[in-house]
Amino acid sequence: MTQVKAYEAVSATSGLQPGTIERREPAAHDVEIAIEFCGLCHSDVHTIRSEWGPAKYPLVPGHEIVGIVSRVGDGVEGFTVGERVGVGCMVDSCRECESCLEGFEQYCEVGNTGTYGVVDSRNGGVVTQGGYAQSIVVDENYVLHIPEGMDPAAAAPLLCAGITTYSPLRYLDVQDGDAVGVIGLGGLGHMGVKIAKALGATVTVFTTSPAKADDARALGADNVVVSTDPEEMAAAKESLNAILDTVAAVHDLNPYLRTLARDGALIQLGLPSEDMPPVDPGLLIRKRLAYGGSLIGGIAETQEMLDFCAEHGIVSDIELVTAKELDAAYDRMVAGDVKYRFVLDAATI
Ligand SMILES: [Zn+2]
Ligand SMILES: [Zn+2]
Repeated sequence: MTQVKAYEAVSATSGLQPGTIERREPAAHDVEIAIEFCGLCHSDVHTIRSEWGPAKYPLVPGHEIVGIVSRVGDGVEGFTVGERVGVGCMVDSCRECESCLEGFEQYCEVGNTGTYGVVDSRNGGVVTQGGYAQSIVVDENYVLHIPEGMDPAAAAPLLCAGITTYSPLRYLDVQDGDAVGVIGLGGLGHMGVKIAKALGATVTVFTTSPAKADDARALGADNVVVSTDPEEMAAAKESLNAILDTVAAVHDLNPYLRTLARDGALIQLGLPSEDMPPVDPGLLIRKRLAYGGSLIGGIAETQEMLDFCAEHGIVSDIELVTAKELDAAYDRMVAGDVKYRFVLDAATI
């Protein structure tokens, strides 16, 4: 075991404080990573505050991890010491079910092993601890290559926010000439805009705040629709092929469904903690619309996304924070006051 410094929550109300955690010695197929940066995701906040059910404390969050390989096990072939790598939202899965065998480890039928807060049955039943730490040890099958030349801090959010938007766009086969809507312009939404543009789509951002129009255009959006303005929503009627809904707050989807053209799809990415108003089946039926959801992406697809982003010069827009600023950053994140992702500088832990 190696003792490493980390920032952890000890209760739902403790915030994050300095602590020490143990990392296992790298086994044959393990990669030990000296963490450089870790993105701050809304899931981190929900989890450590027990908003998605009771968390297992003490708990170190963080699943947008970038760092340098410091040690590898004897059996590791895909990674070498000194290489820059990433770890996203999962560090293992059963590897045997249909989903795992098809490369959709995120939908593992036994449940994927989340990067933090989950019992790791393959490694002695310890609770996984995330990336707000100096290092992490992960099986090589769940480690990604960060392409050369990519800004490591700005690449970190690709490992959750990037893949969460890339995967549904690829699943829907979005390509040149398609029209894509993105609801919400936060960490997920801003990645959705960039990736949809790079796939060749015309992008419309839906936002409740007219003040975000310039920001949306600066990120590459072609159109901005203020969703609280019924006239603007009506003008967008049946104009889109796909919509990514990144909003986790409760909202009515029906006005957005009306902006989809025949055979369009609305994909839910944000997970509200309360029930949403019902979807009108008539809207779905009359235009053969689909309403679905999507969870991050598989490991191979995450690598594909990183390579795609490198090829298209895409990274996240970030604000770098120190470990001491984590609690304040969480409060700002909850208030929607970040452009567009906070990233922890792990050297400050
Ligand atoms: Zn996340
Ligand atoms: Zn599985």
